Amino acid sequence: MNKHTQGIGMTSQRTRDRLIERLRHKGIQNHDVLEAMRLLPRHLFVDEALASRAYEDDALPIGHKQTISQPYIVARMTEALLAGDAPKKVLEIGTGSGYQAALLAQLVEQVYTLERIKPLYLQTKKRLASLNLRNVRCKLSDGTWGWEGYAPYDAIIVTCAAPEIPTSLIEQLTLGGCLIIPVGAADAAQQLLTLKRTQQGVTKEKLEDVLFVPLVRD
Ligand code: SAH
Repeated sequence: MNKHTQGIGMTSQRTRDRLIERLRHKGIQNHDVLEAMRLLPRHLFVDEALASRAYEDDALPIGHKQTISQPYIVARMTEALLAGDAPKKVLEIGTGSGYQAALLAQLVEQVYTLERIKPLYLQTKKRLASLNLRNVRCKLSDGTWGWEGYAPYDAIIVTCAAPEIPTSLIEQLTLGGCLIIPVGAADAAQQLLTLKRTQQGVTKEKLEDVLFVPLVRD
């Protein structure tokens, strides 16, 4: 890693290690998730003016009224996703800064990610290329409908709150695949759910109460 990705002062490895300790204390147990987060420079996914806050356990603004999610929530969702049958192919709805996609890229074979805001899509595509992440494919589109071209996926992760569970996403899961999704109205109580597609139907498990920016339909 070069000086830029290593960071200095408030973005140094020591500062990052402290965040990982905090996540562990909050109950994150998956070693691979913690290690991948320890190595991924979150400060490169936010504006330079916010870099010194990148290793606090908080959501941060990324422009266009959107946010990079709180590290604890990213860790929790990633851990839930990996709890399935070793997912290889993953779809994300809501690319945003690209942090979640970049994290997944360290943990699974191939990541597909959809974003509906063009400037975010363009900026993040460039960012992921500069980080040399070749197993992430980005597309500008409304993720409500999934990404049929590469379906089915072993797991789908939605990083914006859906008013209801989009049926297209369930349909694009493999049998045994899971969907991690915050469900609820904007600015109201939302629940982070894991839905699993099984031979008998769809099972549902609640993970946490959360607050996400809304999934917007185009
Ligand atoms: N995973 C992101 C979180 C970004 S916030 C990260 O790690 O930074 C959620 C993102 O979802 C926003 O960028 C927002 O524009 C996007 N979004 C909202 N509705 C969407 C939709 N219907 N399709 C695709 N992206 C959507």
